[in-house]
Amino acid sequence: MSFIQLNTEIPGPISKKLMARRQAAIPQGPFHVTPIFAARAKGAVIEDVDGNTFIDFASGIGVTNCGHNHPALIARAKEQMDKYVHTSFNVVPYEPYIEVAERLNDLAPGESPKKTFLVNSGSEAVENAIKFARSHTKKQAIVCFDHAYHGRTYMAMSLTAKTKPYKYGFAPFNSEIYRAPFPYVYRTPGSSESSCCGSIKNCSNELCVCEEAFKAFKDIVEGQIGADLVAGVIIEPVVGEGGFMAVPAPFMKLLERYCKENNIVFILDEIQTGFGRTGKLFAAEHYGVEPDLLVMAKGLAGGMPLSAVTGRSEIMESIGVGGAGGTYSGNPVACAMALAALDQFENSDTLAHCQLLGQALSDRLDRWLIDYPIIGDHRGLGPMRAVELVTDRQLKTPNKDAVGKIIKHAYEHGVICIGAGTYGNVLRFLIPLTATIDQLNEGLDVVEEGIASQCPAVELNLRTTS
Ligand code: PMP
Repeated sequence: MSFIQLNTEIPGPISKKLMARRQAAIPQGPFHVTPIFAARAKGAVIEDVDGNTFIDFASGIGVTNCGHNHPALIARAKEQMDKYVHTSFNVVPYEPYIEVAERLNDLAPGESPKKTFLVNSGSEAVENAIKFARSHTKKQAIVCFDHAYHGRTYMAMSLTAKTKPYKYGFAPFNSEIYRAPFPYVYRTPGSSESSCCGSIKNCSNELCVCEEAFKAFKDIVEGQIGADLVAGVIIEPVVGEGGFMAVPAPFMKLLERYCKENNIVFILDEIQTGFGRTGKLFAAEHYGVEPDLLVMAKGLAGGMPLSAVTGRSEIMESIGVGGAGGTYSGNPVACAMALAALDQFENSDTLAHCQLLGQALSDRLDRWLIDYPIIGDHRGLGPMRAVELVTDRQLKTPNKDAVGKIIKHAYEHGVICIGAGTYGNVLRFLIPLTATIDQLNEGLDVVEEGIASQCPAVELNLRTTS
């Protein structure tokens, strides 16, 4: 049975009417990848207002990791709504917040005693992580990286790398932020096919790339700031909006060690990589590192707005009473959903399925890399994977245009997927982690048709379905 059912042209008539109302009532700022409007969603399938069903390869930007409207999560939220929806943790506290904190303290990588603070969005958690780092160290400078995305509020936006559309026209940005090069193996001089190992996949000189990037990081810290003045270093283990480049393990280790040696708070932004997205609960587990502060959101509460900073107790205690909080922070319904989501992830079958999905996706992308010359690279960790499209493999010229066309082809044929990348030329896969292999394959067939349509010289050969 096909999960995709299209009964109207896409977008259908009701979606078109809603789009006209949206345009009249809402400013253009909030962007939409698709012109369809949601009516309901279940598992990996979204139904639109015209009765068409789509396989979701976006998960609301990596949020519905347990699948849309997972019955256990919804039941828990409803049960909580029947009791109370809001008292404000700052006025009358409640147990679900404590329970989420206790569970995250136990689950966060590393052995040091931990405490957790909850807020609402990823950006807000990033803001607070910086407050904790500065308050604890009594220092100011924060080092972030090229290609980073940390959010849209002023501190989070200041830490974000890409100007258009995120920062352009919104200056002045926060001060005492310094940006170091990211070890982007595919695009680092020296890692090209001609000058290195001759492979079209990431080449074996990853170590050299890491050494170079780490030297540049140290030059910035020691040459431009002073290591004793740096409060924190923030990095995404797999760059999300920037294009799904995983931090090479040696670089992560070097950073962790440097931070330890210099009393710098090592902050991992796991907002996109968390909760099974990379095949483990947290991406940090792939690296064997212990962040001083772990920043989470998205998959934490399966779709309810909830975010968290979990960190070493002494850092988390550095802010005085009343120095952290917010009217809505740690909403009880969001906490209830988070507890149900954590139950899912503590069941070993869930993570095993994430790994299975990741392997199936990676195998398919390996083949695409051979079959389709517009694919320059595919990469990621576990099921958090993407392809980078180029017009020329030798020159690696970004092919942003193709990404737009493939996304359009996909939603017009029943699959919702999204782009990424500093150059806008990355197609990323953020499937609900409960999707079946059949759903994955049906969706990938559609995306592959879109890719093939951008490579006219190559014959489409859908091996999974033939
Ligand atoms: N950090 C990362 C790594 C993200 O992927 C995002 C969201 N895409 C954010 C921060 C910001 O989160 P939010 O949109 O919830 O503010």
